[in-house]
Amino acid sequence: MKRILMVNLPFSGHTNPTLDLARTFVDLGHEVTYIHSPTWRDKIEATGAIFIPYDHYEAGKTAEIKSWAWAYETIKRIGQNFDCLVYEMLFTAGKALADQLGIPSFRLFSTFALNEQVLSDCGRTGGFYLTLIFRFPILQRLLSRPLARRFGWRYTDMVREMIDNAPEFNFVYTVKDFQIYPDQFPAEHYYFVGPSIGPRQENNLDFSNFPDPIVYISLGTLLNDSPDFFKKCIQAFGNQKLSVIMSIGDKIDARKLGDIPDNIFLAPFLPQLQILERASLFITHGGMNSVNEALYYGVPMLVVPMGNDQPRVAQQVVDVHVGKCLNKCSLTAQQLQESAEELLKNKSYRKRAQAFQNKCRAAGGNQRIAQQILTALNK
Ligand code: UDP
Repeated sequence: MKRILMVNLPFSGHTNPTLDLARTFVDLGHEVTYIHSPTWRDKIEATGAIFIPYDHYEAGKTAEIKSWAWAYETIKRIGQNFDCLVYEMLFTAGKALADQLGIPSFRLFSTFALNEQVLSDCGRTGGFYLTLIFRFPILQRLLSRPLARRFGWRYTDMVREMIDNAPEFNFVYTVKDFQIYPDQFPAEHYYFVGPSIGPRQENNLDFSNFPDPIVYISLGTLLNDSPDFFKKCIQAFGNQKLSVIMSIGDKIDARKLGDIPDNIFLAPFLPQLQILERASLFITHGGMNSVNEALYYGVPMLVVPMGNDQPRVAQQVVDVHVGKCLNKCSLTAQQLQESAEELLKNKSYRKRAQAFQNKCRAAGGNQRIAQQILTALNK
């Protein structure tokens, strides 16, 4: 039995895919200890892992940003007692810290695998912070110096640390055909394992209320406070011959969206995988998890990116012909309606998405990650 230490930061997109990996290790008879924010305790314990909250955790507005330091201190205190550290790429100190503790480390990517070119693309197209950090190398280096000291990085440059101080094994939760610049990632170090699709603790939806075709709409869990976007969707699809299932997030008061026509059902959070299994079209912000999940179920996408890496993900959706993209700033109900109609009618999108579905299902997922890590540990 191996004692595996996992760590993550309190962001759904970065944590969700890793929960099923914890469960997979536990099912294979290994002990997993997962360091995370107390807000994630229930979901982590449900995997069978031992939950350890960050040392020094305090709830509050700055909790997310302080999580890097809290996670670091916690690993430093207990890490040497484990056979390895498994971390998601956002915890940039993972490799350097594991080296200090003398244990092997393994890195997970819930985004595209990253290198200079991918980061520069995301910086050019993405949201404010991403743009600021990765578009202007000088700023990136200035920001990096104190972080490098604080977290014991090998390089005083965040990009160098991420790329050149990489562990031997890196696992990416997408398929290689969806990765941008795939040939820049050597096959002996980067494993494209496809989306992480595992059991989730959620209620079942009664789909008898939703005649086909089903259009599923969600802006994910972070940049989802866009009542105007949801109002335009209601205007575009209300009283049409289709069912709309819409996840509006927990920041919007549904009453402010006006009258909701009978063919539209909305809620703050919905069982996304259950819905994608039945949906004909997904209108999404282009979060990497959502897009991978849609590929897994072979569902074409209409992407309206809100920020971060989403514009680059949206571009890739268009480039591989599994969907279309619309600009949130100039978005109209008519555009939504016309693009959705084209995606539903033109079967080439569905066909291409189904080809991705086959690749996703053959890519191995968390089983492949677990086997690869255990083999490496037993060498
Ligand atoms: N999600 C869900 N139900 C919802 C909204 C989101 O299950 O109503 C899940 C979705 O399946 C995905 C994650 O939340 O795994 C969102 O991650 P993504 O990277 O797409 O977007 P983010 O929330 O990080 O912007």
